[in-house]
Amino acid sequence: MPQRQETLMEPTMNNGNGHGHGCAIVNGRSRTNNCTSDEVIEWFEQVSQKGGSVQKEILSQILKQNHGAEYVKKWLGYHNIQEMDSSALESLFTSVVPISSHADFEPFIQRIADGDTNPLLTQQPITTLSLSSGTTEGRQKFVPFTRHSAQTTLQIFTLAAAYRSRVYPIREGGKILEFIYSSNTFKTKGGLTVGTATTHYYASEEFKIKQEQTKSFTCSPAEVISGGDYKQSTYCHLLLGLFFSDQVEFITSAFVYSIIQAFRSFQELWCEICNDVRSGSLSSRIKLPKMRKAVLEIISPNPILASKLENICKELELVDWFGLIPKLWPNAKYVYSIMTGSMLPYVTKLRHYANGLPLVSADYGSTESWIGVNVDPSLPPEKVTFTVVPTFSYFEFIPLYRHNKQEDYRSIIADDFIEDKPIPLSQVKAGQEYEIVLTTFTGLYRCRLGDVVEVAGFHNGTPKLNFVCRRKLILTVNIDKNTEKDLQLVVEKGSQLLKRAKKAELVDFTSYAHVSNEPGHYVIFWEIDGYAEDNLLEACCTEMDASFADHGYVVSRKTKSIGPLELCIVERGTFKKILDNFIANGAALSQFKTPRCTSNHGMLNILRACALKKFRSTAYNT
Ligand code: AMP
Repeated sequence: MPQRQETLMEPTMNNGNGHGHGCAIVNGRSRTNNCTSDEVIEWFEQVSQKGGSVQKEILSQILKQNHGAEYVKKWLGYHNIQEMDSSALESLFTSVVPISSHADFEPFIQRIADGDTNPLLTQQPITTLSLSSGTTEGRQKFVPFTRHSAQTTLQIFTLAAAYRSRVYPIREGGKILEFIYSSNTFKTKGGLTVGTATTHYYASEEFKIKQEQTKSFTCSPAEVISGGDYKQSTYCHLLLGLFFSDQVEFITSAFVYSIIQAFRSFQELWCEICNDVRSGSLSSRIKLPKMRKAVLEIISPNPILASKLENICKELELVDWFGLIPKLWPNAKYVYSIMTGSMLPYVTKLRHYANGLPLVSADYGSTESWIGVNVDPSLPPEKVTFTVVPTFSYFEFIPLYRHNKQEDYRSIIADDFIEDKPIPLSQVKAGQEYEIVLTTFTGLYRCRLGDVVEVAGFHNGTPKLNFVCRRKLILTVNIDKNTEKDLQLVVEKGSQLLKRAKKAELVDFTSYAHVSNEPGHYVIFWEIDGYAEDNLLEACCTEMDASFADHGYVVSRKTKSIGPLELCIVERGTFKKILDNFIANGAALSQFKTPRCTSNHGMLNILRACALKKFRSTAYNT
């Protein structure tokens, strides 16, 4: 954890009426301690009314704080930025400092990791680095982590909890069943601690403060969260969640994938877990001594609860675990997790487990910075938007326009979009798509995030964003261009046929552009639960092939310069093996996102080794 204690300066921004009430923002952080939900909401309602001016102020704070850092000096060293007002500084900054990507910061971050203590990206030394999940980009990235990072995490959680509490109030002092996992941490050559951003947060003071602030306490002790073995942690999360079942107010994880994997495990483990509840003992599966000790200190024999749980589980087994959550956690008010973007495919299964219990989509952020909060918790995941919190970072937006497919399909462009000049938050337009660019308190300046968002509207003066997809194209053979979202839509259509047949369900999927043979073609891998006849799977394959709407793909399929889509069915458990493989290579379950397209050899080897059947599409045959 960061050693440095930042001092709170006098508020430069307060609640908007000139009288800070303790929820004021200082250096992009809020003093949320001791604030009531109403005060937190009042603070955000006011801040969001003047998003544009707040942003200028935030940029000014970032630059003035870090004016001596090598990167800032390189671009702004000849200007007396300390004396400039925030508008002049914003104009100077956006005209002089280039738009960059993570690769531009890598040499600086590497020097920091190697122990260079000069101010390179920030004035204050960086003592901790976060590892981005790397499951979307294929490669993990180091991102500076400071106390500010943990504080903004506390702030967004407090803010989101305040909005949730208005719609779904919870009992004070209740428990949260949290499927959260720390990754292992390690030290760099220069002695900096490296781990995922969530790992640093779970170990921080702010994680404890959040529980006190929101008056809800996680069921599992730190030894379970940070055990380092996700299977053992999942078992204990489930056991403790059931031990406290009557007290659980809501169920949560960072990304919803973790909840689904936990309940899939529960379907296998429930007998053993009930035995532990009965006898107050702990399965021999739990080998980590600290985890064993911590859990055994909490649980005690409860035969009445165990029999009740066993009866419920026997009934649930007969109905394919439909409604598992409200049956086992009768006082849970909702499920709260990131369910948008690449998590959307898991929502069907979650609805099955939740049987009508509200699903509240959690907030939008990245290892680099938190971005937006869900202020409409009652919206279903398909409709949720994220209101930018203008105090977290300085946000810019690169307008993105789709190519005119009819005219441009002949050009081989490695991107699906044409870009316009970046604009500040105050100038974005509803209905327009943008790539987000971040300038952060942790030393990134005009750095592309790689996410495509759409402005869905405004909350006061601040944009509400729809998450669209990662910007990088994932499937392309020649002139075709398909993003993660395009693939997701196609898979959704194909799997509708499975759903209608009511015999099998899609567990997970990924894809691969097979270009080593001419003509190249797409391969989509499906793991399914249940039995589906070959002719049904062939129909799913053809449906998916015909559902790619990208003009380049359609033309290429018609001219046979892209071959028929291949659907490869893999055996049960394949995606668990993929998860294990990523975890073995340093990923953390809390931030894991199944890569929707892969050229990763390890992952392809698993997929190939687990292939059961292959089908080729008959679309475009005539
Ligand atoms: P990481 O690389 O682990 O820092 O993950 C950050 C990425 O996860 C973001 O850049 C997004 O692509 C994705 N992400 C984070 N929050 C959300 C959300 N609420 N909805 C959809 N995608 C998200």
